[in-house]
Amino acid sequence: MKITDYFEKSKGQTLVSFEVLPPLKGGSMTDIFKTLDPLMEFKPPFIDVTYHREEYVYNKRPSGYYEKTAIRKRPGTVGICASIMHRYGVDAIPHLICGGFSVEETENALIDLNFLGINNVLALRGDARQFEDKFIPEPNGHKFAVDLVKQIDNMNNGIYLDSNIEKGTPTEFCIGVAGYPEKHFEAPNLAIDIEFLKQKIDAGASYIVTQMFFDNDNFFKFRDACVKAGINVPIVPGLKPLTKKYQLNSIPRKFFINFPEPLVKELLKTDDKDVKRLGIDWCIAQCKELKAADVPCLHFYTMGDVDTTYKIVEKI
Ligand code: FAD
Repeated sequence: MKITDYFEKSKGQTLVSFEVLPPLKGGSMTDIFKTLDPLMEFKPPFIDVTYHREEYVYNKRPSGYYEKTAIRKRPGTVGICASIMHRYGVDAIPHLICGGFSVEETENALIDLNFLGINNVLALRGDARQFEDKFIPEPNGHKFAVDLVKQIDNMNNGIYLDSNIEKGTPTEFCIGVAGYPEKHFEAPNLAIDIEFLKQKIDAGASYIVTQMFFDNDNFFKFRDACVKAGINVPIVPGLKPLTKKYQLNSIPRKFFINFPEPLVKELLKTDDKDVKRLGIDWCIAQCKELKAADVPCLHFYTMGDVDTTYKIVEKI
């Protein structure tokens, strides 16, 4: 079923959904099931599975020189989606990125998804590779997520890359895209970022999932600004609880977001052993306020931490 249909059918009730990461290469589906089995109690209508492109690693050779190799540390997104749908009977949403894909490879990946009965995708640009200072598209690949959305929308209209295909079967992808309450780190300001977000919606995306945030006011301001800019699709808040003190620095460094002052002050005077408790309580309070503000769904970045996610969702 299309993700947007779940929002419509929920009749104003706030849903919960989860995002999982493929296990590191060498791991197994058991890792994913261990995370999801307990969480299925909350009846998520859909589960997101992230996509990880290959990274460069430098291996030291016996000669002393370093050899640069590209490896994908977390492959398996599509297989995991199919496996989740088979085991739990819920929809799985693969994340699909521009990085590392030519348009032809993207088309083939979408055909695979379509044949597997996976009709929802989150369309993203992806980040710069490690050791590259900016995002570099593949030769004949997409530069921005909007271009990927356009390609998927074309396929939804039976338009494939090969113009000789006259009666291509239309796919039925429901397309989600990313939004950033505190703006994407490369955007010159939030207003421009929201203009580009609107382009993704106009190109065929039907809902938005946000980057994590710890201050609901940022989400509410973002949602108001989206509406003002003419964006009328569901906006799903993405949530991740703090569990360790070092995340006060690592999360802003990685995700370019701010922590609200009351949370920081509280955290700094909290013993390490109590940080998780504080993070859970903060997230529960965030969720309750977001629910009261009629968000369609609360989307949790589990990052494999089932215990923390469970403790939050059982309270909301
Ligand atoms: P875009 O929408 O293309 O935007 C990227 C930047 O370009 C922004 O600054 C935007 O303002 C600007 N921009 C957009 N369009 C234009 C234009 N036409 N002209 C000029 N500038 C423009 N990454 C992964 O690798 N795998 C994942 O599974 C993954 N999942 C994610 C899930 C969520 C919910 C979120 C929020 C992010 C996820 N990411 C993932 C990270 C994401 O790929 C990065 O944040 C990436 O840097 C931007 O992706 P985007 O789709 O928002 O890009």
